[in-house]
Amino acid sequence: MQKYDYLIVGAGLFGCVFAYEANKAGKKCLVIDKRNHVGGNVYCENVDGINVHKYGAHIFHTNDKQIWDYVNQFAEFNNYVNSPVSISKGKLYNLPFNMNTFYQLWGTKTPEEAKKIIESQIKEYGFENPKNLEEQALSLIGKDVYETLIKEYTEKQWGKKATELPAFIIKRLPVRYTFNNNYFSDKYQGIPIGGYNKIIDGLLEGIETKTNVDFFENKEALSKLATKIVYTGKIDEFYNYKFGNLEYRSLRFENTSLEKENHQGNAVVNYNDGDIPYTRIIEHKHFEFGKQKHTVITKEFPEQWTKEKEAYYPINNDENQNKYQQYKALSLQENNIIFGGRLAEYKYYDMHQIIASALQKVKKELN
Ligand code: UDP
Repeated sequence: MQKYDYLIVGAGLFGCVFAYEANKAGKKCLVIDKRNHVGGNVYCENVDGINVHKYGAHIFHTNDKQIWDYVNQFAEFNNYVNSPVSISKGKLYNLPFNMNTFYQLWGTKTPEEAKKIIESQIKEYGFENPKNLEEQALSLIGKDVYETLIKEYTEKQWGKKATELPAFIIKRLPVRYTFNNNYFSDKYQGIPIGGYNKIIDGLLEGIETKTNVDFFENKEALSKLATKIVYTGKIDEFYNYKFGNLEYRSLRFENTSLEKENHQGNAVVNYNDGDIPYTRIIEHKHFEFGKQKHTVITKEFPEQWTKEKEAYYPINNDENQNKYQQYKALSLQENNIIFGGRLAEYKYYDMHQIIASALQKVKKELN
């Protein structure tokens, strides 16, 4: 009856890396996904020759040479560097927070001038032990940057007051006293040439895969197919929400094809103002330096999550974390189920972190 060593539920990066490594070690895997395609949220859809990041923009970055080499086995990467700009009250600012941003805000031309303003604002508005995102931002960068580029974006992105959000979220963004618009501080960065699907196809090559299969519609029969299950879906759903549901933030994407070459001159333009319902517009061709005569843009609208919608971001505040710990405790008692990925670990992972975590878990498993 047990035809497979592993039933892998979810064909996102975690599931695919796990499957690839297990398969390489001679284990028989079946990968299932409820969507009609593999790849999870890194999946790209080709629209008139442009790779559209269907579930939100994905820019690969890592400091870890091993992870970089790992993904480069499956696709070559281009030299795209993420340098978003943000529009606030009709004015354009460079991100992340750097000397260009400070010049645009205050006209400061040297690091000393900028530091003087920021330090005095941190002194006046900062906190010794920041307890939430607002306190963290004020302590990191001061009041002007917080009010111009963080507060309204964050509150519409998360649907919560910045004072109700965990501080760590804002630590994702660097603060620099150089004229450097690179959004990431990692050594390696780029977009796979030919799109993310190439990596997924490489990982799943020779592995049995079934799409349009919802694990929960046939849990018992599917579970019997394999000795072990690798589960990458929502952990609260796995346990039938018995401790209540964890909160997520959802997104709605509105795609438009335009008969012009260049709409906004950058892959990512953020919209800070609270009265604009989307957080950013992505112009996909710029990720791959596209030369097409047309372009495709996507407006990203944050939305309240409900059980019918896609869960994109875990909301890791104290209340949800405590609930998650209850689910985690249950998961640790399982002998034949491995939980991994953004949804099963309820963690705001980036792609490189997911790959590292999958490699670590599969290695432990195979040993
Ligand atoms: N953020 C912000 N202003 C911006 C961009 C980001 O305040 O213009 C904050 C916001 O709280 C967001 C967090 O920084 O949730 C992380 O942003 P990032 O771009 O890393 O998030 P992702 O691409 O995962 O949505």
